[in-house]
Amino acid sequence: MCGIFGIHGHAEAAHITYLGLYALQHRGQESAGICASNGREQLVHRGMGLVADVFSEATLAKLPGRHAIGHVRYSTAGESNLRNAQPFCATTDGGPVSIAHNGNLVNALAIRRELEGRGAIFSSTADSEVIVHLLARSREASPEERLIDALSRVKGAFSLAVLTDDALVAARDPWGFRPLVLGRLDGAFVVASESCALDLIGASVERELEPGEVIVIRRGRLRALRPFAKVPRQAFCIFEQIYFARPDSNLVRQNVYAFRKDLGRMLAREHPVEADMVVPVLDSGTAAALGYAEESGIPYETALIRNHYVRRTFIEPSHSIRHFGVKVKHNAVRSILEGKRVVLVEDSIVRGTTLLKLVTLVRQAGARAVHVRVSSPPTIGPCHYGIDTPSREELIAHQHSVEEIREAIGADTLGYLSLEGLRGTSARLKAGICDACFSDDYPVPPGDDEAAPQLSLFHAVEEGFSDDVRSPARRGPRE
Ligand code: AMP
Repeated sequence: MCGIFGIHGHAEAAHITYLGLYALQHRGQESAGICASNGREQLVHRGMGLVADVFSEATLAKLPGRHAIGHVRYSTAGESNLRNAQPFCATTDGGPVSIAHNGNLVNALAIRRELEGRGAIFSSTADSEVIVHLLARSREASPEERLIDALSRVKGAFSLAVLTDDALVAARDPWGFRPLVLGRLDGAFVVASESCALDLIGASVERELEPGEVIVIRRGRLRALRPFAKVPRQAFCIFEQIYFARPDSNLVRQNVYAFRKDLGRMLAREHPVEADMVVPVLDSGTAAALGYAEESGIPYETALIRNHYVRRTFIEPSHSIRHFGVKVKHNAVRSILEGKRVVLVEDSIVRGTTLLKLVTLVRQAGARAVHVRVSSPPTIGPCHYGIDTPSREELIAHQHSVEEIREAIGADTLGYLSLEGLRGTSARLKAGICDACFSDDYPVPPGDDEAAPQLSLFHAVEEGFSDDVRSPARRGPRE
């Protein structure tokens, strides 16, 4: 998953982008990058790590210009290294172009093979780079027409912020898998993956981009286009609402926190249990646990404490780190839990690692019974559209029944929200949803890329932790 940000027409474009990325940090912690443009040339700085580690006053000072895009990444397609850090920048015969992409393309590998067969040289292993190649090869007249031409060839999920010589272009795929919101700040136009980024910089939220919409912002004017062929339905990723997005964001015109609370209420109706307290798995289960507590009348207690200085465990690529992370991340408060019957509320179970640890912790702290409640249905399939899920075989609910999972994590009872419960709660969202990871109903077939999700044609030796690249302009006015 990734977070993207773009701003057009602001004196402090790179600094504002830095702040926007700060608010989107939860969407990716492996690398960060900002590309700024003065309308003629583009400068980019990318690095491995958190936004605050990658950027300093000195690096931001090297990114002048009134337009900028930014990206935070964790790898879903391609390895975690600097070569795959975005924005991707290229000098085309139509001028410099930089791209920040959120989502996964399902036919990127097929396109890449085709282009490589005709001599193209790729510099990363990320799916997003095919968009740059297709755009560079397009014979359309304007940069935005070239981008649209390129996007018409890719399949899957994309929310994009693109910087051309003098324009900011933002686009959402026709299914609307990933979010993208438009705002205004001091007369400048801003786009961001989530509204929380607009809140931080003090921008007003104008609206969300519609699925299939492309907006072109040039010289202070916005043009909205609908260039793509119609698709059968919308498919907004419901996992954004369940887990991924920040609770203070509004997605598809619904506050994430309120939605999660409603999932918790529904969960309480579907899986009631006699207990002394409802305990959230911080932070992912917090809102659902509150909803469960309110609906059931069982008191809410924060009896598992989280160490906030541990990075999100699941995102680490190696199993040993993830396992270790769960242990250092939570501690149980014995004085609250001793002798009590506990409802432990979590947003999702993937491999089962987290809950096995936490149920054990809660029991060791003296709980008499541990009832696990999950505010989403069993995760039975991987995501092909940008959420980092392991292969189907590694998903505990693909391999095992609910009863087997209960036994594996050591809970007294286990209740998942039903697919009907999730769909019922989602019915009020102003969008059709993708719930393929719970239903196996994939809106876009995964295609070839499923067979080889980890494209690894060469292994880049890390050149360092960051890079600076200048893309000289070929044409275009100076601001
Ligand atoms: P697991 O321990 O493998 O069952 O993973 C479940 C934990 O990972 C829960 O705390 C979820 O909130 C969290 N989680 C679920 N999906 C993802 C994801 N795609 N990326 C990061 N964390 C996730």
